Amino acid sequence: MKAAKISHLPLLPQLFRSLSGWRSGLLSACTLAIVLWSALQANGVPIGTKFTPTNPRLGETLVLDLSTTKGGTTTATPPTVKVGSKTYPVFSLGGERFRALIPTTPLEKPGNREVTISNNTGTTTLNIPVADRKFPIQRINFAPGKVGIQATALELKQVAALKATVSPMKLWDGKFIAPNQGRTSSPYGVKRYYNGKFATNYYHRGLDYAGGYGSAVVAPAAGKVVLVGYEKKGFRVHGNVVGVDHGQGLVSIFIHLSKITVEEGQMLAAGDRIGAIGSTGSSTGPHLHWGLYVNGVAVDPVQWRSTAIE
Ligand SMILES: [Zn+2]
Repeated sequence: MKAAKISHLPLLPQLFRSLSGWRSGLLSACTLAIVLWSALQANGVPIGTKFTPTNPRLGETLVLDLSTTKGGTTTATPPTVKVGSKTYPVFSLGGERFRALIPTTPLEKPGNREVTISNNTGTTTLNIPVADRKFPIQRINFAPGKVGIQATALELKQVAALKATVSPMKLWDGKFIAPNQGRTSSPYGVKRYYNGKFATNYYHRGLDYAGGYGSAVVAPAAGKVVLVGYEKKGFRVHGNVVGVDHGQGLVSIFIHLSKITVEEGQMLAAGDRIGAIGSTGSSTGPHLHWGLYVNGVAVDPVQWRSTAIE
């Protein structure tokens, strides 16, 4: 909280800390809630906000928890969340609590993200500082005239639809587990030069695991299988591919599989088998590429592995 600037009410963080530490029973809690509500009303702030991580870096997901100050007969509408002109989906966490997930990427500039949160009682602005981060650099050299494998229209369309999936039910629960037992061979966010020329729109949109050929690939979190694609059916770049919808704009993709053991529509628990590591599609050797997308943007899965995001 310390890095955030809330434009209307500097006392808000302290009030929330008091609230979370309160243990003296319902009556006291109610009293405090009324005090809190009144304080917010008096200052004209419609929404309590908290974001994590406290010191986000490029590639991480900004997790914005919102608490509307609906009380008594007042009805507050669910907040809307905007960064610049882009509006992000907001989901209920029950009662007066809501949450928005805002992705950041290595292609963006570090610095403040001005987040505007509004509902029918007013608007709050948060400045979230996103720190710079060094990403590894890879130099790839092609023989002159050699063209890489081109994606087919079918796979581009189906993979784009997968990444754009935003479904209302939250299916994941707690920290994500590793989708394969191998070591990670290429981190998220690696940037590239091709034949000495910097690839401005490229970054490694996932995490690679070097488990051996045929080793198990499992669901890192619960979800619904929404894409199963095969190299022989036109997934030339991705190879055999599985897409899992974890709900509320969070989607995983697993590519280059040798084998797929799930079907579209199937519900998965964390740890359920999806298939096996392979080298199908545009791949130079057996590995798993796991991409994690938040509202259509590839974020660093490591944060989701190390932190339980409610
Ligand atoms: Zn990869």
